[in-house]
Amino acid sequence: GYVPVSETGALPPIDLAVIAITQARSSGEVMMAFDAASYGDPSGTLSMMSELMAGLHNGSVSLFYQPKYDLRRGEICGVEALLRWTHPERGFISPDVFVTNAEETGHIKPLTRWVVEQAMMDRKSIGVRAHPMKFAINLSGRLVADRAFIEWLAVTMGAEPDGFCLEVTETAVIDDPVVALENIQHLRDAGIEISIDDYGSGLSSLSYLKQIPAHELKIDKAFILAMKAGSSDALLVKSTIDLAHTLGLKVVAEGVETDEVLKLLAVMGADTAQGYYISRPLSFERLEAFLAEQVVEVVPSSPGSKPVKARRIV
Ligand code: C2E
Ligand code: CA
Ligand code: CA
Repeated sequence: GYVPVSETGALPPIDLAVIAITQARSSGEVMMAFDAASYGDPSGTLSMMSELMAGLHNGSVSLFYQPKYDLRRGEICGVEALLRWTHPERGFISPDVFVTNAEETGHIKPLTRWVVEQAMMDRKSIGVRAHPMKFAINLSGRLVADRAFIEWLAVTMGAEPDGFCLEVTETAVIDDPVVALENIQHLRDAGIEISIDDYGSGLSSLSYLKQIPAHELKIDKAFILAMKAGSSDALLVKSTIDLAHTLGLKVVAEGVETDEVLKLLAVMGADTAQGYYISRPLSFERLEAFLAEQVVEVVPSSPGSKPVKARRIV
């Protein structure tokens, strides 16, 4: 729930630590002590949230999409929806900041509902001309145990089976594993793909990994960014790919920034790659242009044969 900052002195140390992690992330630090001043005053957080809710309707909040690239087929197979908020006065605000605030104040529910509805509209308008693309949406760990919300997701996204993927962090099941695992199974039964996000970044536990009925494992970008041929990170990535395949999961590597890493991942048997090297997150308009560029018309080889559409290898 929402905790006024005047009372943060009374917060349990674990809560302070969790907030400090977020603060460190958003300022690009490896480590940071809890900073009460930058945590902001409670009325500040609340007015940020009411401005965020207003932004859902006035155009200052939008969805960007980052392509996911199928390494075996050599084509874009889906996109991940990522929130963007350009505040009229404050400018760009990182999703790490406002998503965390939304989780702490309960605004994550209407925010996620908006994301789902927007992504469904966008997928529909893209699906008209391109082959069906899987749209991935981030689902906050705070919502995984919320039965009513999960039911809404199952009904809404389940109306288009195989069209959507939900990215959930492994730690989302720790608080209430029985309900969380049941809910994830329910989403899966509704035809929604389940991806385990940020794998390796938190408290990874093989016992949870085995139990989560997921389709896909997303290796955290920290490991991919650090990869070099023969390095210990490359070894870690390789053994994670093998482990995931043993468990019947596909593997996505996020944070692919170079050609070298892309090739290394292909050799190691990763299924999907995502990162700046393939494409940065794009506005919907730019995504359409990007996808159009990927499709190359191939002139028919003999008169009478149909023109073939092939996809350019990134
Ligand atoms: P995430 O789900 O791990 O998303 C991946 C983040 O990595 C994105 O940051 C993306 O822009 C960035 N990224 C992608 N490729 C590369 C690369 O090659 N190199 C590097 N250095 N970074 C790369 P972004 O957009 O700032 O989002 C941050 C986080 O905010 C997301 O992490 C996610 O946890 C959260 N978030 C964003 N949109 C939503 C949403 O709609 N719902 C929820 N619950 N969380 C969201
Ligand atoms: Ca994600
Ligand atoms: Ca991630």
